[in-house]
Amino acid sequence: MKNRKIEIITAFENLDANSLDILLDENRIYQDVPKSVFVGKIRDVFQELKDDEFVICDFKAFPGKCKQCSKGASGYSFVNSQNSCYAHIIFEENEEEFTDIYSCNDFCSSHSDIKETFYGIYFDDDQKVDFMLSFDELVEKEFCLRAIEEIKQELIDKKVLSIDFMSTWWEKYDKDDDKIDIFNNISYTFRREIKGYLGSVRNALYFIELSRKAKFYLDLYQSKIFIDIEAKMMWLFACLHDIPDIKLYLHAKVNEDENLITFSKINVSFDLMKDYIQLQKVFNDWSYLIPYSVLMSLPHNWKTSLVVDDFSSNEDDDDYDFPF
Ligand SMILES: [Zn+2]
Repeated sequence: MKNRKIEIITAFENLDANSLDILLDENRIYQDVPKSVFVGKIRDVFQELKDDEFVICDFKAFPGKCKQCSKGASGYSFVNSQNSCYAHIIFEENEEEFTDIYSCNDFCSSHSDIKETFYGIYFDDDQKVDFMLSFDELVEKEFCLRAIEEIKQELIDKKVLSIDFMSTWWEKYDKDDDKIDIFNNISYTFRREIKGYLGSVRNALYFIELSRKAKFYLDLYQSKIFIDIEAKMMWLFACLHDIPDIKLYLHAKVNEDENLITFSKINVSFDLMKDYIQLQKVFNDWSYLIPYSVLMSLPHNWKTSLVVDDFSSNEDDDDYDFPF
């Protein structure tokens, strides 16, 4: 059976989930989850790597040992020619086969020059075998699944989300609702999914509101006062004062040809944000007029609201005011 072990390692090198699906034991638990869940997750991780244009998919296995979670257990780091590692993986074995395969966070690799480690392979607690949700968690799960279903259906029906839909959906399911305990550290699939949607809807609504403000500055920019440099400076500072986030990168994919802006999982119409995007272009063209040190350290009361996709890293942001 030695060949099968080698074939499994080779499948991890080649990002070949189909082979893993055949080679791994249907009845085994890997990394605390059933084989089908394990392979499903690995398939997603492999696909993300293949889809990433900056990643060269020539991964090779470099042996090493766990330093902590299963101290001394043997495994491999999968590293490409860019010295990037997609995961350190422990392979527990008997004579015949691998008895468990799992991702390790604290690993001593024989590869001496790993520049970065990404992805890793992780599972939510509710994907693990024998895991039971409490009654409250079951109620929460129902609530989250309904919210996810509603927004997915709207995207299927209309392709983009309207302001009305997003505002209503947000009010119904937002983070203050005690039905969602998403700030608790336990990672459940449904929590992770609704957090993604809540983050995207919040970002979209936020930038749509900024786009309304942006219209005023664009109109001003069209007027004749912009002959001299002082006027430009005034305009830049007024913009910064009113819309400090203008200097932040918009965390969205903009596709003007298809009139679409994609925030992680949702689409909105480009028209809803076109003024903001236009203003950002003008601002960037002129921002060399402002000294970099000033741009980076605005007065404290010129508040910049951090835009995040993940609510859990933003628990202190209680004073986040929605303009709706
Ligand atoms: Zn470990």
